[in-house]
Amino acid sequence: MPRETLFTKIVAREIPADIVYEDDLCLAFRDIAPQAPTHVLVVPKEPVESIDSLTADHQELAGHMMLVCKKVAAAEGLSAGYRVVINNGKDGGQSVDHLHFHVLGGKSLKWPPG
Ligand code: 5GP
Repeated sequence: MPRETLFTKIVAREIPADIVYEDDLCLAFRDIAPQAPTHVLVVPKEPVESIDSLTADHQELAGHMMLVCKKVAAAEGLSAGYRVVINNGKDGGQSVDHLHFHVLGGKSLKWPPG
């Protein structure tokens, strides 16, 4: 039985989210605490925990999610650029144990992150 997380509940529509994109493999919705004018999370519908949990079987899914990030950025009008971030594990700052790509944009982003 896969572990329930906040994001499995959003995928199952058990808790509400501002969904901006959906297909068979993934869902994209606005972050509840945006760190930029546009901040969207792209998550797989399959409950993969993190990058560390990805296997060779996820190759297509992982590539697909990257292309969905590009699609979301275009739909959000981020023509001047954007950033895609994946936090992994404790030191990586991951707080929800369900793989997610952050798509951030709408302002000039600083580097490096903290
Ligand atoms: P992480 O820190 O794991 O990389 O990112 C988790 C993200 O999920 C954070 O940016 C946080 O603001 C967002 N988040 C936490 N709870 C909710 C929620 O209930 N709804 C939505 N839409 N985003 C959430």
